[in-house]
Amino acid sequence: CNTCLLLFREYDVVVVGGGIVGAASARELKIRHPKLKMAILEKESELAKHQSGHNSGVIHAGIYYKPGSLKAKLCVEGLQLMYKYCDQKKIPYKKVGKLIVATNEVEVKRLADLHDRAIQNKVPDIKLLNGVEEIQKIEPYCVGLQALWSPHTGIIDYTLVTKQYGIDFKEQGGEIHLNFEVNGFENSKDNNYPVLIKSTDGQQVKSKYVLTCGGLHSDKLAELSGTSKIIYLFIWNPPESDLDVILAFFKRWKKRQLIKGIIYPVPDPRFPFLGVHFTPRMDGSVWLGPNAVLAFKREGYT
Ligand SMILES: Cc1cc2nc3c(=O)[nH]c(=O)nc-3n(C[C@H](O)[C@H](O)[C@H](O)COP(=O)(O)OP(=O)(O)OC[C@H]3O[C@@H](n4cnc5c(N)ncnc54)[C@H](O)[C@@H]3O)c2cc1C
Repeated sequence: CNTCLLLFREYDVVVVGGGIVGAASARELKIRHPKLKMAILEKESELAKHQSGHNSGVIHAGIYYKPGSLKAKLCVEGLQLMYKYCDQKKIPYKKVGKLIVATNEVEVKRLADLHDRAIQNKVPDIKLLNGVEEIQKIEPYCVGLQALWSPHTGIIDYTLVTKQYGIDFKEQGGEIHLNFEVNGFENSKDNNYPVLIKSTDGQQVKSKYVLTCGGLHSDKLAELSGTSKIIYLFIWNPPESDLDVILAFFKRWKKRQLIKGIIYPVPDPRFPFLGVHFTPRMDGSVWLGPNAVLAFKREGYT
């Protein structure tokens, strides 16, 4: 039986969580150290069932991040690496570009700061557009005073990317155990594999090291692995039922053809949320949003 087989599984490194962070970390570690015996443990029946499969699907270009920060550096570098990887693996994406539009004088000033940031961050081919005429060469139905144009921003289905990372990992000899919800780490009393990892349904594996990449459950996994209690405020995208209504509307809405690329407002630093934005999706629909709202459940999509 599955439980008996897993009981005797021993690994050098176990990664808990099969979202994009866990899958990417496991894949990279295995590529750098092919001899490591590794596994990913994921509580769902497939990879990318949570944040990694519920996001806007944008390949960001690194415009907003503080110059010199690791986020800025990794985002700019990551965009290039993502396109290269998707070309190699034939994962579809679209470089639809992104327009950040200023509609009043206050936003024009903030847009200039963003432009400055983008240049410092070395965002490729970033351009400031002046006036409606220049804006409408890119987005014929968009109106604004000024806009920042990022031609390399793109859209993708991150579920496919995560699953491909999983395939790469398995091809390198890594193992993926789905339906394995970790609910405890114990001392195995085996000096070679000191961590005993247990699941809610009684499965067990042993490992030398554990890396937890639990997304919205990171705090729980951290506590299970011995940290003190973490108080965690989490913000999640709107319920899927509402989102479906928006999607259905936009799928039938003939005017969705009016939007060619990603259109965002200039962020207002007084608010944590972005404001109204259009995000084209790989299936041809257009999302209005998604926005972030307070949720009262970790995976409360309904
Ligand atoms: C509304 C929204 C829009 C976003 N838009 C974008 C975007 O356009 N572009 C972009 O780059 N990023 C975007 N992001 C961010 C991106 O989605 C996340 O940074 C990324 O998906 C996080 O991946 P993760 O692997 O950490 O988390 P997740 O994908 O949530 O993965 C965590 C995994 O751990 C598993 N897990 C948890 N606990 C256990 C356990 N006890 N045992 C076993 N498995 C467990 C879960 O089942 C899950 O599969 C967006 C995020 C949100 C919320």
